[in-house]
Amino acid sequence: MDRIIKGIMKYRNCHREGMVKQFQQVRDHPEPKAVFFTCMDSRMIPTRFTETNVGDMFVVRNAGNVIPHSQHFVDELTMCEPAALELGCVVNDIRHIIVCGHSDCKAMNLLYALRDEEFASKLLGEQEDIAVESVVVRTRQ
Ligand SMILES: [Zn+2]
Repeated sequence: MDRIIKGIMKYRNCHREGMVKQFQQVRDHPEPKAVFFTCMDSRMIPTRFTETNVGDMFVVRNAGNVIPHSQHFVDELTMCEPAALELGCVVNDIRHIIVCGHSDCKAMNLLYALRDEEFASKLLGEQEDIAVESVVVRTRQ
């Protein structure tokens, strides 16, 4: 935790002023060019490996860079991914959607492991999770 706090302090002392200038440049007229879905994995730093800056793209992160099928939007009002697509593609007229996975994704490894019914039943117990159940069914096909 100390490292994170030191990083925040360093950012405030060394980089914040430059970032505020970038924020001011795009404040009134941001023109993002892509909606970028990627994994929440700590090894993924999308703005670093795409060399993008403030205002360049919407970034949506979740476990496994998953975009649920519309049939699984149980409550589209509380799900991030459809809202990001609506905001990006409909409101901001973005024409590029990037889904960026990575090697050794723990979320994808877990989904793959759920193909094993014994493992899945141990992990899930008696609970029925619609999303996970759906993935297990899909991977069996
Ligand atoms: Zn991942």
